[in-house]
Amino acid sequence: MRKNIVAGNWKMNNNLQEGIALAKELNAALAGKTVNCDVVIGTPFIHLASVASAIDTGKIGVAAQNCADKASGAYTGEVSAEMVASTGAKYVILGHSERRAYYGENPEMLKEKTLLALANGLTPIFCIGEMLEEREAGEHFNIVKWQIEESLFDLSAKEFGKIVLAYEPVWAIGTGKTATADQAQEMHAFIRDVLDGKYGKDVSDNTSILYGGSANAANAKELFSKPDVDGGLIGGASLGVDRFMPIIEAF
Ligand code: PEP
Repeated sequence: MRKNIVAGNWKMNNNLQEGIALAKELNAALAGKTVNCDVVIGTPFIHLASVASAIDTGKIGVAAQNCADKASGAYTGEVSAEMVASTGAKYVILGHSERRAYYGENPEMLKEKTLLALANGLTPIFCIGEMLEEREAGEHFNIVKWQIEESLFDLSAKEFGKIVLAYEPVWAIGTGKTATADQAQEMHAFIRDVLDGKYGKDVSDNTSILYGGSANAANAKELFSKPDVDGGLIGGASLGVDRFMPIIEAF
């Protein structure tokens, strides 16, 4: 059965000491509690190893926010999937719209990153989502289908079974403008149909599809009540335990 997951994406926030403190605070808040979802925090690269050793990684998974599209070698400034895995991180966020928009990440690069992540035992949290103009032009379903096909549909069913998807309409990220729960459900159901068409019901039923875009304590319950919404990728509201915990507890 697919898992419910609440994953934080810290983006480029918190210096190392602040990041460790935030991770420890979340760890303490979860200690002795049973929650109905897997919890993940996506930290900057330099935090990964320290955060992973400061928390109970059986309770909180650690994610990188990116990895290189090359395995190793003369790629100054890059961080490989193998390096990410060696820190104790178990996940990597790939294809976030900020990386697509500001760092020119294209479907081909994301295909390579995904393969390298899987080869190193990382679970990709693969982001897809349309821009406002695309939704207004009625193109949102086509765009999301294309993003999935271009980067992921060369994977075998077994490999695809290790992918977590995050539907993040770009117009909802960091804007305070959440998609309605019905809009999220409509897209998630569409995505599941696309997966069904390619890989069959077993894979489509078992793939966790998270929603991301201004999710918060006030709207998480309604979003997560939808049958095809299996959790959230949370930006701003993951930066404070007081804001992140209620989202985790919305399940
Ligand atoms: C994100 O960055 O993935 C995100 C969903 O951000 P926010 O929750 O701040 O909109």
